[in-house]
Amino acid sequence: MTRAEAVYIPEIIKGFGTTLRHFFTSFGQGRTSRAMQYPEVRREDLPVVDGGLNASNFRGVHRLNRDERGRVKCVACMMCPTICPARCIHIEAAESPWDDREKYPAKFEIDELRCIYCGMCEEACPVDAIELTPVYDVVGGSRQEMVFDKEKLLHVYDVTINRKPM
Ligand code: SF4
Ligand code: SF4
Repeated sequence: MTRAEAVYIPEIIKGFGTTLRHFFTSFGQGRTSRAMQYPEVRREDLPVVDGGLNASNFRGVHRLNRDERGRVKCVACMMCPTICPARCIHIEAAESPWDDREKYPAKFEIDELRCIYCGMCEEACPVDAIELTPVYDVVGGSRQEMVFDKEKLLHVYDVTINRKPM
């Protein structure tokens, strides 16, 4: 730091200047305005993650993908709960009722409140069965409501397939 920076006063004045500039421009549709009338106005320009080219890699609520026959794609390999740093995925594997795989998830739950949205489950899945979606405004009236079960995760797939194709 220079001597001027070391006394902080010029930096504090510069900081106030930036705050005032944002304050006055936020009243109009100015370049730096960030205020939105949510939920009437929703944010569509989602932040890009990890240097991606668009927001398709935004890490929001999970979905469980379906295969071409509409079945859950997951083969209950347990890779995602093993790698999950938040320990928020709970799977109960069972013998598959279909002859093209050995196992399937009889029960699949993700605690969306414990999740840190790191995306490691998506990276670890060998069959692209679990993905994070652009859905960011999920709410629940209780903690239990935020534990998404298999049906809820498949429903997220159904409503996001057009926004984030596989
Ligand atoms: S995004 Fe990360 S924390 Fe969340 S369920 Fe996947 S691995 Fe776990
Ligand atoms: S990694 Fe994929 S296939 Fe394995 S349990 Fe998780 S979602 Fe299922």
